[in-house]
Amino acid sequence: MLNQVRLLETEVIRLKDCDLNFVNEVIEAGGKNAQLCFSCGTCSGGCPAVYTMDYTPRQIMRMVELGIKDKIFKSNTIWVCAGCHSCTTRCPRGVEISKVMAALKSIALRNGYPPREPGGPAWYNSFMEVIRNYGRVFEPELMLKYNLKKTKNPIELAKALLKDAPMGLEMFRKGKLILLPDKIKHREHLKIIQENIRKMRAEA
Ligand code: SF4
Ligand code: SF4
Repeated sequence: MLNQVRLLETEVIRLKDCDLNFVNEVIEAGGKNAQLCFSCGTCSGGCPAVYTMDYTPRQIMRMVELGIKDKIFKSNTIWVCAGCHSCTTRCPRGVEISKVMAALKSIALRNGYPPREPGGPAWYNSFMEVIRNYGRVFEPELMLKYNLKKTKNPIELAKALLKDAPMGLEMFRKGKLILLPDKIKHREHLKIIQENIRKMRAEA
């Protein structure tokens, strides 16, 4: 009887370590069509962040299907995924891989696994604060908030800001960076949406 599967060329997984219901948990957390993956690898081929990942998106999808949770939660892939949707738009099976990645992040946190990328939560929280304030991204404030969350040491903060400065100048030179925030109307609705999300998470 088959009692093991090969995930990578060098890695054999015992079936007793698999949770075949895990894929349903991922779907319930927002990972639409996760069960439809047929491992073609198109997602990995088009992923701009794959070079930083310890498992490719295709391998993560395979692990989701097999329910190899521990490896997924400990991998850096779910944390470095940029949520760019490139994989989702190319997947021939309609798997919403970027939502699968987001679902895996939230399940990992729920299960007490810390983010593999320490800057991740600082980035997400800073991004959400800026969006709540303006309804749009305002990069100078985003970078300031992000770096302030990562360190309270003034020297380290100055170093981090100086490191980002050349990219900021280049963006400004190309007209990609504004110096005052662009605000949408009815920003109070964003606060209500975020508050409802917070309540839903607390009840989950
Ligand atoms: S592109 Fe879709 S079907 Fe192909 S490996 Fe990725 S998730 Fe699976
Ligand atoms: S959403 Fe994530 S996994 Fe998909 S292509 Fe973008 S970075 Fe890669």
